[in-house]
Amino acid sequence: MAYYVGIDLGGTNIVAGVVDEHCRILAKAETKTRAPRPAEEICADMAAVYRQAVAAAGLAEGAIDWIGVGSPGVIDKAAGQVELAANLGFQGAPVRQLLQALTGKPVYVDNDANAAAYGEFLAGVGRGADSLVMITIGTGIGGGIILGGKIWSGFRYGGAELGHMVIRTGGRRCTCGREGCMEAYCSATGLIQTTREAMEGAPDSLLWQFGGDLDGVSGRTAFQAADRGDAAAQAVLERYIDDFACGVANVINLLQPEVIAIGGGISREGERLVGPIRERALRVVMSRHSPQNTRILPAALGNDAGIIGAAFLGREGQ
Ligand SMILES: [Zn+2]
Repeated sequence: MAYYVGIDLGGTNIVAGVVDEHCRILAKAETKTRAPRPAEEICADMAAVYRQAVAAAGLAEGAIDWIGVGSPGVIDKAAGQVELAANLGFQGAPVRQLLQALTGKPVYVDNDANAAAYGEFLAGVGRGADSLVMITIGTGIGGGIILGGKIWSGFRYGGAELGHMVIRTGGRRCTCGREGCMEAYCSATGLIQTTREAMEGAPDSLLWQFGGDLDGVSGRTAFQAADRGDAAAQAVLERYIDDFACGVANVINLLQPEVIAIGGGISREGERLVGPIRERALRVVMSRHSPQNTRILPAALGNDAGIIGAAFLGREGQ
């Protein structure tokens, strides 16, 4: 049996998992990232969590073939370097070089959204498929594209930024500087903003009961109030689903992957969210008359996708 370690390097936590060749996670260990900090310090913590996870799995370090890291930001995969990750404070951080020196293992590095997409492709809803696109709903929108078993991140690692496709020209200002990006509407942050705007126009809405006040609104507030038949909340979700379906239809028109996985916190709403997105997207795509089309599904692995995907970076495309 071969064993690999996948590390999910996040802005808040560093999680390492020992994964066997059948994509099973045997043990995990974690610590706080305490970012921003110098890459030397964060890599030292990654090496420590790696050792804890290996010990927790009851293995010797010699049993581990390699370490894969999913990191936020733009990653120069060939060099194993994080070119820029603002939330970590990394600029040109030589993660491979540092972590290899600390552990004596080969180290592979890729973007965290790519690693999550790769994990879902190998062991989650993409199992057995030839292509998958993953859209992860968080503070922003993460994108990962797997084509023919390989991660496609653009010729210089700047692609797969699905959240920054414009779905409403002249719309909300996005963090990237453009207006009307999918991220500005379909991230948790975007949904919260839409919910607040609806509350301001609807003083009697149940949204106030679930949100408490404008600061108390979360990505769940609109779902909770809509469950109780609140019209303002239902209108918020209608618009949210329309916007999301627009993005999904664009992805199908561009790539028609075998599977689109929708992950992240809000995706826990499951079929209730994904069902109407699927129905609306497949109704408008160019391939709508095709007897078989993209399967649009809630992601299956949660946070484990990033660990499994990172662990398998060493045999990507094989
Ligand atoms: Zn944008």
